[in-house]
Amino acid sequence: MMMYGGGGGFWHLSQERPKDAPRITNDLLKRVLSFLVPYWRQGTVIVVCLAIAAALGLGPPLLIRAVIDDAIPHGKTQELILLVVGMVAFPLAGGLVNVLQTYYSNYVGQRMMMDLRNQLYQHLTSLALRFFTNTKTGEIMSRLNNDVGGVQDSVTGSLISIVSNAFMLTSTLVLIFEMNWQLSVLAVILLPLFILPTRRVGRIRHDISRDTQRRYAELTAFMEETLSISGYLLMKTFTRDAAQLAKFRNKNLEIFDLSMRRAMVGRWFFMMVQTIGSIGPALIYLAGGLLVIRGSLTIGTIVAFVALLGRLYMPAAQLASVHVDFMTALALFNRIFEYLDLEPEIADLPGAAPAGKIAGRLTFEDVGFAYRADIPALRSVSFEVEPGQLAALVGPSGAGKTTITYLVPRFYDPSSGRICLDGRDLRDLRLESIRECMGVVTQETFLFHTTIRDNLLYARENASEEEMVAACKAAHIHDFVSNLPEGYETVVGERGYRLSGGEKQRVAIARVILKDPRILIMDEATSSLDSQSEALIQAALQPLLRGRTSLVIAHRLSTILAADVILVIDHGQLVERGTHQELLAQGGLYARLYEQQFKPRQRRVEAEEEPAELSLAV
Ligand code: ADP
Repeated sequence: MMMYGGGGGFWHLSQERPKDAPRITNDLLKRVLSFLVPYWRQGTVIVVCLAIAAALGLGPPLLIRAVIDDAIPHGKTQELILLVVGMVAFPLAGGLVNVLQTYYSNYVGQRMMMDLRNQLYQHLTSLALRFFTNTKTGEIMSRLNNDVGGVQDSVTGSLISIVSNAFMLTSTLVLIFEMNWQLSVLAVILLPLFILPTRRVGRIRHDISRDTQRRYAELTAFMEETLSISGYLLMKTFTRDAAQLAKFRNKNLEIFDLSMRRAMVGRWFFMMVQTIGSIGPALIYLAGGLLVIRGSLTIGTIVAFVALLGRLYMPAAQLASVHVDFMTALALFNRIFEYLDLEPEIADLPGAAPAGKIAGRLTFEDVGFAYRADIPALRSVSFEVEPGQLAALVGPSGAGKTTITYLVPRFYDPSSGRICLDGRDLRDLRLESIRECMGVVTQETFLFHTTIRDNLLYARENASEEEMVAACKAAHIHDFVSNLPEGYETVVGERGYRLSGGEKQRVAIARVILKDPRILIMDEATSSLDSQSEALIQAALQPLLRGRTSLVIAHRLSTILAADVILVIDHGQLVERGTHQELLAQGGLYARLYEQQFKPRQRRVEAEEEPAELSLAV
């Protein structure tokens, strides 16, 4: 573990500097500044305010000089009063200008952050499924929250600090040289002492910041996983509470260490700056005092000069350290740009046409696909599903059934061959128009933590109450929902955990019925339900499957029996196809699967007592 208090700590770190640290290139700077360009008007106001504030700040020392050299020695009471009033008026005016400046700089900073977050969110939603299967949710959250949040502070903060300190420094320099060049030269000689060590400190702080940010992302990801319902259940059932807590504490401690180191690197530097800062006035009094004794300088000038020194060293120190913040901001930007630069793998080709009204013929022509280059998940799969037909995908686990269903709505594109909708390659059609005519029911039902109504209307926002109720009736969930104390306004709980598995599935089915897609893709739930729920699900499926082209990963015998064609997949290949009877007669893989899986499952369901009113419903 790194030490943060010891003198040598941060120098040691610089040797460990990772090679992937972002370099400040013109392109990076340009890109960062491009986020500020839309706000150039507000930016101009800010710069003008800063210039006025810098000029106003020079007033009081000059007034002090006039008080000491002129008003007091010559007994000018009226002038004395005026000068004193000026001493209050200048800072007051400066304060007012500052309020205006603060308003606009916050405006620009917050706006820029809002733009960045919008852009990032939009970009993330345009990425392919592959990105989300490969990235931890918490990591994504962290970039959207921590990184974008950090950018606001450091970019506007450091830019304003640069401009304001530059104004302050130059205006003060001009004035002091005007007052006395010998003293000014002496004051300026001390300046490099503030600036030289900064580059190094800046680089180290910047590296630590980037590390800290990375750790924050890890921590967020960890919390996301372990504090979700599934993660919680896993933790409790495997009694991993203590281990989990220890892991969390460790990660948290790492962040603490890094943050401490980051803070302390700066402190050593500022301590040095402060010490040097006290040497300055002492030397000026010495040299200035000698000049006064020789009669070539007034007392008022020395006092004013020392008062101005603060306006020389303070901005110099801040300019030196702002470089650090700016680097930190750049590191954050770099992390955000990393995401923004990810190419959406699946996007519209130029000239892609809308799908328009489709009949629903789905064709796989020699389709090959691999998640990773060398391991094929699908090999030369060809089949056709006619409009309105139901095709059941059957096969052992890991055969490639889910992969086939992913290719249809273009969550992935085939690496060879093509998939056609009504004879047109999916890649020639607009992505959105393809997905509009498809409905997908996944095995794990995902519901938003909101009311049942909102979950249903997700399918079609402008659906009427009647349409919604009709969909729920068709999905055999309306009676259940109406009997809930809050009916359609019932909040389903995180991911629908307040509903039973069967109820959730029926809500999901109602949601797709409401969408009314031409093509239905379904991964039938494998979970065994009691016979009552099973019967309700089967009843719900009928209106869902009716009149659509359906591609279903089938786990229920009833679905397989209803299928027009059964496609048997094994090791990424289509090995058998036909109806139930045909395939049984062949005595191949399907026949084996039937004996092992579908038949026993069906027996289990039938063995349970079936309530009388339900047999009517089915
Ligand atoms: P099935 O649905 O028939 O059980 P899948 O289509 O899910 O099978 O998986 C087919 C093969 O692809 C499996 O070997 C699986 O390990 C692999 N696979 C699935 N998803 C991914 C992924 N995101 N990255 C890499 N390999 C994957």
